[in-house]
Amino acid sequence: MKKALLFFVLLLGPLLSKSQVQIRPLPLKGYEQRIIDFINDMKVVDTHEHLMSPTRLKQRTALDFMVLLHHYSADDIISSGLPAKLFAKLRKDSLTVKQKWDILKPYWESSKNTAYNRAALLAADKLFGISDINELTVELLSEKIKKAYQTDWISHVVNDKCKIEYLIQDSDDRSFGTKGFRYVVRFDSFIFINSKQQITSLGKRQNIDIANLDDLIKALGSAFNDAKQKGFVAIKSGLAYNRILNYENTSRGSSAKVFEDLMSSPDGTTFTFEDVKPLQDFMMHRVLDLARDNKLPVMIHTGLHTGNGNIIENSKPTHLVNLIMEYPTVKFVLMHGSYPYGAELTTIAKYFPNAYIDMCWLYVISPSYSERFLHEWIETVPASKIMGFGGDYLNIENAYSHLLMGKQVVARVLIDKVKDCYLSESEAKNIARMILHDNAVELFNLSQ
Ligand SMILES: [Zn+2]
Repeated sequence: MKKALLFFVLLLGPLLSKSQVQIRPLPLKGYEQRIIDFINDMKVVDTHEHLMSPTRLKQRTALDFMVLLHHYSADDIISSGLPAKLFAKLRKDSLTVKQKWDILKPYWESSKNTAYNRAALLAADKLFGISDINELTVELLSEKIKKAYQTDWISHVVNDKCKIEYLIQDSDDRSFGTKGFRYVVRFDSFIFINSKQQITSLGKRQNIDIANLDDLIKALGSAFNDAKQKGFVAIKSGLAYNRILNYENTSRGSSAKVFEDLMSSPDGTTFTFEDVKPLQDFMMHRVLDLARDNKLPVMIHTGLHTGNGNIIENSKPTHLVNLIMEYPTVKFVLMHGSYPYGAELTTIAKYFPNAYIDMCWLYVISPSYSERFLHEWIETVPASKIMGFGGDYLNIENAYSHLLMGKQVVARVLIDKVKDCYLSESEAKNIARMILHDNAVELFNLSQ
């Protein structure tokens, strides 16, 4: 009996240690490198960036080594203890590179482990040949950055280094043109209303005297048409930074009442969220009406907020379920892998044909979270609904290193799936092409 058990264990052992399920035959030798090469060679779509033109970038940060650290890295450096006000000084030209480094050094040392900061290290290495950021290298790195910006640097990195075919910008800065660049537009200012002044200024902007709720809806329609003239591929909402993502289908009557209360309030009054919620929720539904009628996807910020403090529960993707159900023809793109609510996102994207996963920003939040959930999503969600990359950076250098990190994670997950005989090699390559390119082209109609 014991012998039979031993035989059984020996027989099953290799299978059990390999994977849970084996669907495909063992792959042919060399598949790992072939998958890596396939991913490295392909054109990609970048679903989400906030790239700044060199002129705008210079307004935000000096063109020295701080270009690599002024954005997400800043959050972790501040989280490690550097006061935000002092960090702001590091972005200006008033200090020398050496003076900046002396202030930054202890905080960099204590936070350089994070993926935000790893992205900066990788950018320094892969774009400027500087293998570490330290007191011996910051000056040379700064010189190289300055020099790079005297060339057509951004398009060189976008086209030659990243091989990005289409890049979707979430920014008013349209100086990048339309060759390969596409744009999203936000109508959040028509939703997040809590004062009379906001309504008045929306009216001024659209040249409409807003006296009642219908006028407000008219002004929204006019802003939408203006944006349409310039061209855009999706509506973006970043309101999870400001309020809970739960938008009830409130009645016109209750919304009109809030509108009237706001308009008759004394100048300078700001209403509480509870007081204005019916109107805000109502206006979100009007934005979704426009998305539906114009067949435009809606990208919604879910999960982690940038910066150093916010209410994370506000951005849980499950708050959006009622909207996803009420607008079945509107495609909802839930951004940032909903970190840390990946399991909620899995369920939503699995249930609803009109819910999509966007992994923009995700690999620099956490490569291992990205890996864990990409594994799960391949097992649970149609691959056609996963968008595998968006840099989500203000500067192109970190978008590039982010892409390198993303490609490593995607390759690793797909190699594992082939090794485990869950996917064949050709299925894995096909999924890579879908999630890093084809899905976004189709969803956002990018080739138009
Ligand atoms: Zn973003």
